[in-house]
Parts: sequence; C-alpha cells; structure tokens
Amino acid sequence: PVVLGIETSCDETGVGIVRGTEMLAHAVASSVDEHVRFGGVVPEVASRAHLEAMVPTLELAYEQAGIDVRDVDAIAVTNGPGLTGALLVGVAAAKALAVAHDKPLYGLNHLVSHVAVDQLQHGRLDRRVAALLVSGGHTEILLVDDITSDVTMLGSTIDDAAGEAFDKVARLLGLPYPGGPHIDRVAREGDGSAIAFPRGLTAAKDAQRYRYDFSFSGLKSAVSRHVQREQAAGRSIDVADVAASFQDAVVDVLTRKTIQACRDHDVDTLVVGGGVAANGRLREMVQQRADAAGIEVRIPRPSLCTDNGAMVAALGAEVVRRGIGSSSLDLGAVSSRPVSDIVA
Ligand code: ATP
Ligand code: MG
Ligand code: FE
Repeated sequence: PVVLGIETSCDETGVGIVRGTEMLAHAVASSVDEHVRFGGVVPEVASRAHLEAMVPTLELAYEQAGIDVRDVDAIAVTNGPGLTGALLVGVAAAKALAVAHDKPLYGLNHLVSHVAVDQLQHGRLDRRVAALLVSGGHTEILLVDDITSDVTMLGSTIDDAAGEAFDKVARLLGLPYPGGPHIDRVAREGDGSAIAFPRGLTAAKDAQRYRYDFSFSGLKSAVSRHVQREQAAGRSIDVADVAASFQDAVVDVLTRKTIQACRDHDVDTLVVGGGVAANGRLREMVQQRADAAGIEVRIPRPSLCTDNGAMVAALGAEVVRRGIGSSSLDLGAVSSRPVSDIVA
C-alpha cells in the first residue's frame, strides 16, 4: 500500500510517503532553531511552527514522490505520545486530508514508528526484536513481538531522557543547544576513562527493581559538581575529557542494559532509534557488545532516527497491509500513551 504519514509530536514537522517498505518521500521542517535561545523545546513555539510548516512540507513530499494525496491508500498520523498542542496540528491536517479525499485514517504510536522506520532501510521486521529508543524525550527498551499489535515496554528512564542529559551536560560545558552532536564531536578529542562518572541504576541493589530502567539525573549532577570543583580550585576544565567521560557513562549503561534485555528475552535482533542513535560512541559500543553476544544490530541512518513523517508512513503501511481497522474521525491527541496502544 501507498501511505502518507504525518509527524508533529515534538519540534519536527514531517511528511513521508511510502509504498510498502519503499520510501517515496521524506520531507522534514524543524523548528529547532527557534528553541535555541530557550535551551529546550517550547511547546507553544513548536505548535505555531507546525502550523506554518504543514502545507509547505506536504507539498514538498508530493513533489519528492511525484504523486499526491489522491494517489495514496491511507493517511497515517502520529497522535501520541508527544506535546498535545503539537500533535493536534498533525492530527487536524490528517483528518482534513482523510475527509476531503475519502481515505482511511490511522492514528499511530510515535514510539512504535521509531522502530518501524527501520523497515525502510533494512527490510521487513518479520521476527521478534528488541528496540532501544533514545531521543530528547525518550529512553526506552521495547520488546516487539509484532510491530502492529504486540509491543511491550521492558524499561525506561526514571528521570531525564538520554538526549536531555546530553543537552543539559552540553550546557554545563558551554556548548550550544541541542548539545548531543557537539558532545559527540568534542568527545572524539577526549579520554572517556579520564573521569569515573556514575552509572545510574547498575548497582546490585537496583538490579532487581530497575533491571532495564535508566537514570541520568545523578550523572548530570556529578558532571556539574566536577565542573564546579575544578573551577573553585582555579583549574581549567578539559571539556573534551569531561564530554568523553560523560558520553561513555551514558553509552555504557544504555548498551549494557539493552544487551542484557536481549539475552533475557532470547532475542537475536536489536533495532536502535531516536536522535541519540546518531551518536558515534553509542553506535560503536552497541555494535561491539551485540557482536560479542551474537545479536544482529539494525540502526537506521541518522535522518531516519530523528523524528520524521516516513516513520509514521512505514508503520502505517504495515498496519494497512495487515488489514487492521482504521481510526475514527474523532481521533484526538494522547500526550502520554503506552507502547501497547499502537493503532488508535
Ligand atoms: P522525541 O523525544 O519526541 O523523539 P526529540 O525532538 O527530542 O523528540 P529527536 O529529534 O529524535 O528527538 O532527537 C533529538 C535529541 O537527540 C537531542 O536531545 C539531541 O541532543 C540528541 N542527539 C542528536 N544527535 C546526537 C549525537 N550525535 N549524540 C548524542 N545525542 C544526539
Ligand atoms: Mg526533535
Ligand atoms: Fe521521536
């Protein structure tokens, strides 16, 4: 099936068009620049930017695909989780297209779309897989028995998301927002074992209760204390060493717990998604540890890892292919939504 997907859960306005697992269009407009001076995504600013970007982004997608909405079989849209006001812009646009052109509408789970997008690069996910989702708003380990009907959450962060930790630490180090790519770059010149930063929730006492959960706020505080201590002592901070040591701490815990989850659930394929999946050290370490455990790793290219419309269309195509019923035209936005709720 040919499916048009719309994504507006955070600060990217995305429109994608796919035919099965083939990507025909991948148009994205981001309002990230408008959030820089606030050091984080401002919901009101994001919503207004989605309104302004929606029609031009749709038109760009039609141009890329060489088809338009009349030629698609279905309209898919992210309707949660995410920022309510932002989600509503995408949902309203999708409903308008569905009604005007008499197409079925599918309200889809954003997190599951982050996994489904891998089908556009590496082919159909036809077996049970685990997924590590790491972005500015999410840090989750998912068990995917069936991408359209059976997804469970094994673990998640109990405080900051991984990307949020990158952004906060970058700020402490005087690096621009969003900080993840800057830490990634600066850390290449540093020594990841220079400073022993804490690995949250890995101590024996947490092993049972928080087996697959993450915590990054203690790590962020440890970096802050380190910076303050050095400054108080009149020493200059080695930004590269701090960045590399922080990054190693995050990546160590992410990969360790994810590989453990794969082993415990007898899963031999791992998909990694979300903006932080662009991180060089994460890609390297997850590959190393997965190789050692005999697990195949699938990481889509960075432009598919960050929020986009093609990921929504990819999940939509799978849902349509399976003949799953469409969503009601009363579809609303659901800001917090469990991963088990895949199609509204
Ligand atoms: P959501 O959480 O809803 O998916 P988001 O906009 O926060 O939305 P993305 O756009 O997928 O998520 O990812 C942005 C995050 O990824 C930011 O926190 C950014 O710092 C982080 N990031 C991007 N590139 C890198 C990198 N190379 N290394 C580490 N973090 C990165
Ligand atoms: Mg974003
Ligand atoms: Fe996302």
